[in-house]
Parts: sequence; C-alpha cells; structure tokens
Amino acid sequence: MEEKDLKISIAHLYPKLLNLYGDMGNIIALTKRCEWRGITVEYDEINIGDDIKDHDFYFIGGGQDKQQEDVAIELYSHKDFLTSQRDDGAVFLGICGGYQLFGHYYQPFDKDKLLGISLLDAYTVAGKKRFIGNVTVDIDFLNPNTLVGFENHSGLTYLQGDTRPLGSVAIGNGNNGEDKTEGARFKNVFGTYLHGSLLPKNPHFADYLIELALEKRYGDKFKLSPLNDDLELMTHNSLVGKKY
Ligand code: GLN
Repeated sequence: MEEKDLKISIAHLYPKLLNLYGDMGNIIALTKRCEWRGITVEYDEINIGDDIKDHDFYFIGGGQDKQQEDVAIELYSHKDFLTSQRDDGAVFLGICGGYQLFGHYYQPFDKDKLLGISLLDAYTVAGKKRFIGNVTVDIDFLNPNTLVGFENHSGLTYLQGDTRPLGSVAIGNGNNGEDKTEGARFKNVFGTYLHGSLLPKNPHFADYLIELALEKRYGDKFKLSPLNDDLELMTHNSLVGKKY
C-alpha cells in the first residue's frame, strides 16, 4: 500500500485533565508526521464519561496529582478493554502522570493509592524530592540512540517482570533517580517521564510509534518514507548531554 492510502486512529485520553507541559505537542507531532506523508489520521478526544472504542494508538499526558485522581477512577473503568487493546498490539504512549497510571498503582504521600490499569508491570510511589530538569536517555533500539526531554515529577517508578526500560539516563533522574532507568515498555505500551513535548524533538521515536500503529492496523511491518528532519534533529542534538 502507498502511504497516501494508509490511516491510523489516535485516541487522546483525558486531555482536559492531563495535558501538563504541552504534552499535546506529541499529538501534533504524530499527526503532522502522518499528514506530511499523506497518511490519514482519525483523532478522537476521550473525556470523562466517554466510551472508548478500538484505536490503533492511545495517548495520555501528564498532570498534577488532583487531575490524576479523577482520571485514575475513569481509566480503571476501562481497564479490561484497554488490556485487550494492548494484547491486540495497539500502541500506547503515556507521559509522566499518564505513564504512572499505566502501572499497577501510584501511591501519593498523604492520600489513598490510585489504582492503575496494569498495562505495564510497574508501580509508583511518591518521593520526597521533585525531579525537575533536562533528561538525556541512552537507548539501543533507534538511531539516533538517544531520547531527550524535560522531567518534572516526584513519583518514583519501579519496573518489574517483563516490563523493560526505554533506556538508561545519561543526564537527569528518569524513573526513580536510583536505578538509572528511564521509561518503560511492554508489548507496544510505552511510558516515559519525558515532557518537552517529547515527540517533536525525537522524530525517530515518533516515526517508530507510527510504524507500530500501522502494523497493528494492517498486520504488516512498515518503514515510513524519510522526512526532512534537519530542524528536528538539530534541536535533538542540541539537547543531548545538556544539563541546564
Ligand atoms: N503527579 C505526578 C508526580 O509528580 C505526575 C506529575 C506530572 O505528570 N508531571 O510524580
């Protein structure tokens, strides 16, 4: 199939509550990188009370603890459906607070545990220190072999079982500031603490996720045609190894 005949559907989960630090920029990057190739994007905003139907790609951004509480209750009501979507190969990308809800739970300091939907074998507990700053992650599954972004979280996330990190932190704290891991992946579920927003300055990761979403929809592996990423990669490279 030619790229102009392809389509992916994206569900944006609870953007009215979880869209801190411009995480909407990830949706813009995915949509533009498809449209520039002639690939059609069907975009659905999912809000509290909405039903969730089959999509190729599910995105959820970050947010403050209060908004996380409201979303956690709603998201949990869709746990079985979203788990079946994961097992059917759908792509998920969760940023920070959204990432935390992909695990088993997020335990704030002085409040009841927020139940997650266990797409990832991971859990999060509130930390005493807030991690704020630039992050560079060394990865081994893409070229360039780095991801860059900005973190702002106090939650400490620990991975278990077959859930693997996206990579190891070269700059910054990542999942918990202890084990040098950042982010998580199980099947096509990805989580990361990287705001920024992430995908505009990591075009190689954006394309990788689009290819996985196309594979989920059509059952074939795809290699997207190249775009002129000079500006994106110049931005990416200017941030690699940058602490301040
Ligand atoms: N409230 C969570 C924490 O501080 C997530 C914050 C965020 O999404 N930036 O760890």
